[in-house]
Parts: sequence; structure tokens; C-alpha cells
Amino acid sequence: MKDQLINLFTAFETVQFGKSFPLDYCLPVYHCVSDENLPHIKHVIQYKNIRQFEEDIDCFSKHFQWVNWQEFKDFTSGSFKPKKKIALLTFDDGFREFYDIVAPILERKGIYACNFINPAFIDNKEIMFRCKASLLIEDLKIEKSIDPEIYRILSLDSQAAKETLKKEILKITYQKKDILDVLAEKLNVDFQSYLQEHKPYLSTEQLRNLTSRGFGISSHSWDHPKFGALSLEQQMESIHKTFAYLKENGFLYDTFAFPFTDFGVKNDFFEELFKNKEIYCSFGAAGIKLDSVKKNFQRIPMEMGESAERILKKEIAYFRLKKLMNKNTIVRK
Ligand SMILES: [Zn+2]
Repeated sequence: MKDQLINLFTAFETVQFGKSFPLDYCLPVYHCVSDENLPHIKHVIQYKNIRQFEEDIDCFSKHFQWVNWQEFKDFTSGSFKPKKKIALLTFDDGFREFYDIVAPILERKGIYACNFINPAFIDNKEIMFRCKASLLIEDLKIEKSIDPEIYRILSLDSQAAKETLKKEILKITYQKKDILDVLAEKLNVDFQSYLQEHKPYLSTEQLRNLTSRGFGISSHSWDHPKFGALSLEQQMESIHKTFAYLKENGFLYDTFAFPFTDFGVKNDFFEELFKNKEIYCSFGAAGIKLDSVKKNFQRIPMEMGESAERILKKEIAYFRLKKLMNKNTIVRK
């Protein structure tokens, strides 16, 4: 029903995003761009290939004025007057493709981007639990017979289909992430050798290089927990540890992008976060939405299996629909 309504609204949308876009800023978020098959990401993120990414970027360029981090801050604090509505390009998770593929494309087009990283994974010391899930699912495809222990660990019937196994693995949370290591042992998947062989994450040296070329590197928490499921104490520990790392290394320590979603994150966290006057704002990824916390800006996820043009049209339609019901602002308690 929701999808049908959105599609109906989308059909009436013109392609003049500059005019119809309901906010005066547009904040797309990506993770990765690659023409290759990446087993550690493919089952958890629908990343785009190079051609699709370039088409997206050209679509944004047509309707918006790209800004860098300083301009974004100046704009949102009222001291920068753009000619068009602005767009700030963001990436999350610090994958290597940002250095190898994305940065050269953006330099050619003269576009800035900021990558929100998890220090725990930089230099390929560790791999994020969702990437572990993706690797396990990729391995399941080639397993002829599955160890009954696997079913037991996941509390599944030993007759369960591979598809059910896959779903259960994808449901494993940050709090239960150790299960992924147990499963890996049973499936003979070695995360450490995958890290060493494929180097999925950026290195400290690459982060420094990107900074010297004008790109932004900032906080996505220490190791990618869902913040809504943490205590205030755990939330702040992850924040402080990451900010110390960013400051020490000369990266951007005045912002933070929530891993996954900021759904369920309450006012007490934001009050605590902004006690640090060096922090300018934070970012969620709920699409085109307003937030009762004025310094928390919502970004638009771009890896939904559709083009930027289609995603923007849908998002604009959805925002209007929500506005009719007075539901286009996230209200926190
Ligand atoms: Zn992330």
C-alpha cells in the first residue's frame, strides 16, 4: 500500500528537483562503488557500479550545487549563500574503493566528499560484523553439505533451507556478533586471511592522502554498533574514542554519522554529544526528513537498487505524503 501510494505520487513529480526538492540541502550517502563482485559487501549493500555512480553524480550536478564540508557548515549557519540548492556528498564505512575508484572520479568532476569511517577497521585490523555475515552467506552458496552444528547454533531445524539460514545470519546483531565467528569456524571461512588478501578497508596512509587531496574523513563510531540499542554510556564511549582518534590523526572531528540508523536514539544522547562544543552536527540516513534535533541532518541512502533520479523522485513524493499527515519530522523523546 505504501509503495503504491509513493509510486502514484512519483508519477506526478517533475524532473525539476531544484524547484520541487522540499529542503534546501540534499545529502546523498553511499558506501561503495565498484564494477567488481565484492563478497564482503554484496549481501548487505546494493552498491552501484562505476557507470551507475557517474550517472547519479551527473543527475545531482544538474539540479544542485555541490559543497564541501566548510561550505555546508557556513550554509547551515547562514553565512554562505549558494546559487542553487546545495548537495553534500557523503560515504560511510571507509571502504578501499573510496580511494581506488571514487576519489579519482570526483577529482575529475571537481566534487568534494566526506567519508565517515570506523577506526576499528582502518588498516584492515578487523572486519565489520555485517561484512562477516555477507562473507558467510557467500560461502554458504558453495557448501555442499552443511554442518548440523550450524543449524543448532542458529536454533534452526536441521531441515531448514539455505534461504532460511541466510535470513538468520543477516539478523545477527552487533550484540551477538560473536556468533558470526563461531559460524565462520564451522564453515571454514577465515576473516583474517580475507582481510589480508583483499584489504577491504582504507589504510591510515590512504586516509592521510585523501585528506591532503581535500576530502573529508570523519566519525562513524568506533566499530559500527546500532546506536539505538546501546546505553548512553556505551554510545558516548564509542563517540569519545573515535573523536580522540580523528583529532590525533588530523581528520575532521566536528561531525558524526550514525552507523545504520539513528532510529530510537533519544534526546539525552544528543544533549551529551553537543556538550562538546567542537561538534557541529550529526547525520542520520532516514531519507528526506526533518528532525526535532535541529543539528541532526538526515541523509538519503542511494544504494536501493535504483537510479538517483528515481530515488529522489520517490523521496520527494514520500516527503509530501508524510507532510500531509504531519509526519515528516522525526520527533525524539
Ligand atoms: Zn555504516
